[in-house]
Amino acid sequence: MSLTGKTAIVTGSNSGIGLGIAWELARAGADVVLNSFTDSEEDHALAAEMAAETGVSVRYIQADMSKGEDCRALIEKAGRCDILVNNAGIQHVAPIDDFPVDKWNAIIAINLNSAFHTMAAALPMMRAAGWGRIVNIASAHGLTASPYKAAYVAAKHGIVGMTKTVALETAQEPITCNAICPGYVLTPLVEAQIPDTMKEYNMSREDVIKNVMLERQPSKEFATVEQLGGTAVFLCSDAAAQITGTTISVDGGWTAL
Ligand code: NAD
Repeated sequence: MSLTGKTAIVTGSNSGIGLGIAWELARAGADVVLNSFTDSEEDHALAAEMAAETGVSVRYIQADMSKGEDCRALIEKAGRCDILVNNAGIQHVAPIDDFPVDKWNAIIAINLNSAFHTMAAALPMMRAAGWGRIVNIASAHGLTASPYKAAYVAAKHGIVGMTKTVALETAQEPITCNAICPGYVLTPLVEAQIPDTMKEYNMSREDVIKNVMLERQPSKEFATVEQLGGTAVFLCSDAAAQITGTTISVDGGWTAL
């Protein structure tokens, strides 16, 4: 699959799944725009490393996905957007009657509203180019729920719904819009939850991973960022041109339960 000549913007891509997807898109030949809210030497070094290793053009553009104007500015600054991967996301775990309002607002802004703004800004560019692929990174929590994750589950169900709407609005154009629903992937977002869960359940790291995190993942294995990158590349391929408005689960069987 060659994505040579296409420009891919991946939000929240200086770490974890976004970075893994950016690597696979670059390996498939797409020019890449990396993004996060930071603007560090490491961010720009990552772009330089990816460009050197894959031979494509890689830029890092700082933009805070919690702010609508930054989301739109990211797309405008990139100047071209053939492939849009809405990946930026955060998590907070608390019972609903104790859920901090600022955390609720931040999760809805970063995990849901940002995709509204980036898609609104990117679609005219895709229409002008006569081709477009939107890949929204939802979650198994876009299809099922867990306790204490009200904001995350609401945002992820919201992104699955918005994916379907955008797919219908673009159905007769050479543009597709789909969501990938990962189960647990061992990224910094998940790694950060391990120490608290160890304390909460008085369990070892291994037991937390196997009996708490992967409890609902029948494969008992984490999905990998490379597998998610491969799925995103597939959704950008010609073979996937009639796949639109749907979800692809990469969850080791979680949603089959
Ligand atoms: P991560 O913490 O490694 O990466 C999150 C990325 O989002 C980082 O690059 C971070 O810099 C960026 N980000 C956070 N706030 C931002 C902001 N305000 N503006 C711009 N960028 C911002 O986490 P991850 O596990 O790679 O998660 C990536 C996506 O995958 C999220 O949407 C998450 O909900 C989803 N997801 C993760 C898992 C998992 O098990 N790791 C499972 C299902 C879905």
